[in-house]
Amino acid sequence: MHDLHCLACAQPIAAGAPTYPDVSGTLCQECAPTFAMLISDDDGCAFVDLDTEEPMSAGERHALYDAHIAAGGKPDDSMASLD
Ligand SMILES: [Zn+2]
Repeated sequence: MHDLHCLACAQPIAAGAPTYPDVSGTLCQECAPTFAMLISDDDGCAFVDLDTEEPMSAGERHALYDAHIAAGGKPDDSMASLD
């Protein structure tokens, strides 16, 4: 995990900082999509299931969003995480 750089802004990502895994690289917390974006893009293909590399369905994206809100999150929270 050394010398990790954000795919979008090219800034180095500190070890232990939240990241968002994209299919072609890693995004920093500032460049990661927000949960609101998850449900605003209902025509799909912007969000990909990283396990299957298939575009997530609207239902899958809404389920992720709902789970985040149910856990006390906000719509404009970054989807970057420590995992
Ligand atoms: Zn970035």
